[in-house]
Amino acid sequence: MMRTLAGASLILFLATAFGFGQTAAGTNKIALRCGSLLDGRGDSLRADVFVVIEGETIKSIAATAPGGAEVIDLSHHTCMPGLMDTHTHILLQGDITAADYDQQLLKQSPEYRTILATVNARRALEYGFTSIRDLETEGAGYADVDVKKAINNGVIPGPRMQVATRALDVTGAYALQGYAPNVMVPHGVQIVDGPDNARQAVREQISHGADWIKVYSDRSYRAREDGVLDDIPTFTRDELRAIVDEAHRERHKVASHAVALNGVHNSVEAGVDTIEHGNYIADEDLKTMASRGVFYVPTIFVGEYVAQGRAAEGAPVWVKMIQIHQDTFKRALKAGVKIAFGTDAGGFDWRVNPAKEFSSMVKFGMTPAQAIRSATATAAELLEVNDSLGTVEAGKLADIVAVPGDPLSDVSLMEKVDFVMKGGAVVKRP
Ligand SMILES: [Zn+2]
Repeated sequence: MMRTLAGASLILFLATAFGFGQTAAGTNKIALRCGSLLDGRGDSLRADVFVVIEGETIKSIAATAPGGAEVIDLSHHTCMPGLMDTHTHILLQGDITAADYDQQLLKQSPEYRTILATVNARRALEYGFTSIRDLETEGAGYADVDVKKAINNGVIPGPRMQVATRALDVTGAYALQGYAPNVMVPHGVQIVDGPDNARQAVREQISHGADWIKVYSDRSYRAREDGVLDDIPTFTRDELRAIVDEAHRERHKVASHAVALNGVHNSVEAGVDTIEHGNYIADEDLKTMASRGVFYVPTIFVGEYVAQGRAAEGAPVWVKMIQIHQDTFKRALKAGVKIAFGTDAGGFDWRVNPAKEFSSMVKFGMTPAQAIRSATATAAELLEVNDSLGTVEAGKLADIVAVPGDPLSDVSLMEKVDFVMKGGAVVKRP
């Protein structure tokens, strides 16, 4: 009896865990008539093709529509794989200034923030992001696990999610800061000190549903005369190594917020899997990242978006950081580091389309095709879902979006996604 029950719940888990259940796609046959197709395997467009979908899967790429299929006319569109944003915060509504952030943690309950997060999840999907990696809840506990569950159970619309739950940082390093010592305030992270506590926190977060472990590796940025962005590292090397070792031992990966010199270096040395932001990365660390396959998630747009506000608040370094970031980005491209698309959406208001990041990446030196690949095939590799997602080809899950026109000649068209399909179910159509 127990075995049967366990078996049944395993099947139910498998059916829901991968977000197939959003709307009953059934075995409906759909043919997308695409004016152009960027399949994500190469960088060139294929003209006038039909992408045939059966149920939740891509059946074939064909020259004609098969009989009995519902044809959706995208003949003036470019079709491409569903976009992936590998750095979001659905539990956050923008935090240009410290006051914006404090307000959310002090005056909004986690329950209210979760309601807002469900709206943000739907927004992400409607912008064309069929998968996201949400990199910590900023004080809202394990609410990301529940939003993911509600999406997978078909309760609310949203992208496929990988979640990081609470993130880790040391005492005195993360907001909320600056309150009187006798006032108890919430923090946007789980505070841990010492390798053993860090290991315990990793175990705790994984037991509550974390797919990724997120660490904050540095803080307090200062632009040096020689153009290097300096920082104060948060964790000791022993602490960071313990976190990475524990996460990897439990087959989970580690994302490190590392903006500058020491944070990046310590993270790379400790063996993290992704470097988040990386405004400054030394050449030797770029070399190590390239050879070990460590991903760089640069989040350019958010830096531009918050710079003026933070400068006005007394931190002009955020303006200087943009130039430093561009130089690092170019060096990373040259060094052959894997660059994955990530926006930090939630760090800016979700009503702003995170796809603005594509234009930022092109401005910093990528071609439009490279920028789109960073949000499809490369992002799928980062999320380790490249066997089922990330390209448009037979046998893969039908996560497909389309934009009107040719994004390879105007990448800002990526902000105009007006067709979205997730797992064979149409979410949005022109
Ligand atoms: Zn972030």
